[in-house]
Amino acid sequence: MAKLYFHYSTMNAGKSTILLQASHNYIERGMQTYLITAQLDNRAGDARIASRIGIGASADTFSDETDLFAKIQTRLETGPCACIFIDEAQFLSDEQVWQLARVVDDLNVPVMCYGLRVDFRGKLFPGSATLLALADVMREVRTICHCGKKATMVVRRDEDGKVLADGEQVQVGGNETYLSLCRVHWRQAVNAD
Ligand SMILES: [Zn+2]
Repeated sequence: MAKLYFHYSTMNAGKSTILLQASHNYIERGMQTYLITAQLDNRAGDARIASRIGIGASADTFSDETDLFAKIQTRLETGPCACIFIDEAQFLSDEQVWQLARVVDDLNVPVMCYGLRVDFRGKLFPGSATLLALADVMREVRTICHCGKKATMVVRRDEDGKVLADGEQVQVGGNETYLSLCRVHWRQAVNAD
């Protein structure tokens, strides 16, 4: 029985590294995988999933309009595929998560999603909310705060390092940076401004 997996974490926990390693494990055994990530600019289809430790792999993309069930079904018609990997899964819509659930249930292919749980305001991303509701298996990818406790929250900072408490959930191509913190230090960081 195939399953829908959700590997969630905060920023910079190494999700892409874990995704690439898991995909590599299939390829090493002579199996094929299909990697899809969010299309964050206008270059559809030729994205790359890269990890901070220097490894990467080419990937297809999804946008708001992508029917992921149809896209994956088309891929499966070209040959066998042992596992589907979705990076930046926080950007999936509610409907797209249901499409992935149908891939698992009706096409019997496992789907592994990797994404952020909450945004810098402490709110669930829509894709992550639906994955938390629907996934068969959930795994937390852990990282730590500067204090050594588990980091579950993230702050967005501008180029001067000032913590930003408001703004769009998705910021593409800006000069902002993100810092993962435990909840105590997130509260301090957000309230201090
Ligand atoms: Zn802390």
